[in-house]
This record gives sequence, structure tokens and C-alpha cells, in this order.
Amino acid sequence: MINVTIWNEDSLDATHEDVLKVYPEGLNGALADFLGKNENMNVRTANLDEPECGLSDEILESTDVLLWWGHGKHHLVPDELVKKIHNRVLRGMGMVFLHSAHFSKPFQSLMGTTCSLKWRDGDRERLWTILPNHPIAKGLPEYFELEEEEMYGERFDIPQPDELVFLGWFSGGEVFRSGCVWYRGLGKVFYFQPGHETNPTYLNENIQKVITNAVNWLAPDEVVKEIECPFAEPVEASWNERHPNHKI
Ligand code: ZN
Repeated sequence: MINVTIWNEDSLDATHEDVLKVYPEGLNGALADFLGKNENMNVRTANLDEPECGLSDEILESTDVLLWWGHGKHHLVPDELVKKIHNRVLRGMGMVFLHSAHFSKPFQSLMGTTCSLKWRDGDRERLWTILPNHPIAKGLPEYFELEEEEMYGERFDIPQPDELVFLGWFSGGEVFRSGCVWYRGLGKVFYFQPGHETNPTYLNENIQKVITNAVNWLAPDEVVKEIECPFAEPVEASWNERHPNHKI
């Protein structure tokens, strides 16, 4: 089973009415709804208003894949928590950053850059699957469209992605690296651009497929307790002992 934690800055009570019109159960509810249908996933949700921002050590240490959606409250996430999240990714946890989470502290920490971009509300987006053999792209068409999505445009101030799976094109003419993978330590990170809170993006079947594929692929076999830096005896020592006249 994959333990999935979906984190959103807003609790349902704190969610703006324009968002509730599209997602009556909030963004966490919408994401949990389709991910929760997978028999191999244990899905839970967390938000900023909960004790310890919803991510106590116990919850974080039992999370295989963490999804993160935030927009206006990035600064309220404590730096101490950001360090813990970063460390767990280095030890193997998978992490999916959605849409405006590009400016979240954990994403900036994992990238080491500002993660800035251009934006404009209300464009049409065409998403191109440019790495069709990638596990995150499994079952996706060559391209698909979102009637309304916020334009995110280049230059996106990120380190060069290790794998670029989706490219977004917008009706205003801009392009964007919309689906990017990075390896960080033993963990994998996926950034996925669609998901503006007042558009029904997370109800789109293709979007749901991308996020489901991502959770399956980012899930580690194991998250190690710590990254060690051990002294190592020579691997070939036994050969030398067995062949004293032919030392290498
Ligand atoms: Zn947005």
C-alpha cells in the first residue's frame, strides 16, 4: 500500500466560496476523491490550520508520497517543517507539487532556485506529452486541452529538470515546462502546473490520470532512516588475501 498525504494550505472552512463552487469538498477533497479510488493507496488529507500544520512527525514519517497545494500562505509554513520535509524526500519520500506550489517553501528548498514564473488568469491550455514512455505519461494522449487554466509562462526559474514529461502551450502564445521530474537524494519530485483553484482542472480525467500515475511512480520501496556517510573497507580485500602473490 502507498501512504499518500494530500496537503493544502486551506481547511474546508477556510476555502474561498469561488473555490467551493467548483470543488464543494475543497481541493483536498477533490484530490482525495479520485486518488482514494485506487485500491493500492491509503489517502489522508492535511492542512495548515491543523496542529503542527497537519504534518506531525508521525504523519510525515508514515507518508510515502506527499502532495502539496498552496498559494497565498506559503510564508506561514514553518522553516523547521520545511527542513523535515526536505530531509524525508532525500531519504526516499516522493513529492508532488501542484500548480501554485511552485512558490512553496519545500519546493524552493528542494530546487535551490526562486521558482519564479510569468502568470495570467483565464487562458486555454494545450498540454503536450513529450516523454510518452515515462511512467507518469502512461495512458495519456499525445496532447489534451483544458478549456480554462491559468497561464504559467517561461522563464520558469528552476534547475534543469531530470525528466521533462509535459509541455504546456497557452492560447496567449506562451509555453511552459508543465510536468517536470527531479531526483533528490533517494526521493523523486514531480511538479505539475495545471490546477488553478477556480478552474475544474482536478475533475479532468487526464489530469487525474497524470496525478495517479505520479503517485504510483514516486512511491518508494523504502524510506531509509538516515543517509549515512560510512567508512568503507575495500571491496576487493578478500581477493588480495586469496592471491597474496598477485595483489591488485
Ligand atoms: Zn492559480
